[in-house]
Amino acid sequence: MLRSLAWVTLGMYAILVARTLLLTAVATALTAAAPASGPPRRPPSGHDIRLSLGSSWVFALGGAVVIQADGLGLTRLIHGPGSPWWLAPLGFAAVLLLQDGVFYAVHRLLHHRRLYRWLHQGHHHSHHPTAWTAFAFDPGEALLQAAFLVAVVFLIPLQPATLLALLLTMSGWAVLNHLDPERLPAGMPLAWLDQWLIGPRHHGHHHRRPGLHFGLYFTLWDKLCGTEAPKP
Ligand SMILES: [Zn+2]
Repeated sequence: MLRSLAWVTLGMYAILVARTLLLTAVATALTAAAPASGPPRRPPSGHDIRLSLGSSWVFALGGAVVIQADGLGLTRLIHGPGSPWWLAPLGFAAVLLLQDGVFYAVHRLLHHRRLYRWLHQGHHHSHHPTAWTAFAFDPGEALLQAAFLVAVVFLIPLQPATLLALLLTMSGWAVLNHLDPERLPAGMPLAWLDQWLIGPRHHGHHHRRPGLHFGLYFTLWDKLCGTEAPKP
């Protein structure tokens, strides 16, 4: 059992590193086409790369635990046909909304002076984040985030395709939030969407002034709790 868990963890780690390399390459291509008048492109910091590769082991272990537990019939993942069509969009929306609220509360706690140094300082190492910062977490923070994802498959009935769509959305959104908004192509509708959705403007602000913009996907909690910076 333990040997099998170790092999599945290794496989999951390879998948996660491939995902990170693919998304950082897409981010580089997106920001490479920025207008010449924009700020210079910053290379990723070695610190963020090391932390990303390290914390991926924690997420890989979480993924392996889910696969092993599902094999034993212990999760609420739904296999096979027969589920109503609306279960996929409902499950997708429910998990994003739940994660958004939990993340906001935990993120604010992680900024408490007694926790910050141990659990969240690593993610804030870069004042000008890059795509690699999206996955750069101290081991304790990675453990908290992975525990949420593992808990989801034990609590919420999801089809595997919905779970995969959620993981891709989470990864892509995380990378987008850590890009320099001034280096993104002009055609992206970020200025219009950012009244409701967290984007690079919000999260970039959080990296420069950590007392504001704690949200993950939606601006709702920052609005309700008064942690939204006025729009420039
Ligand atoms: Zn933070």
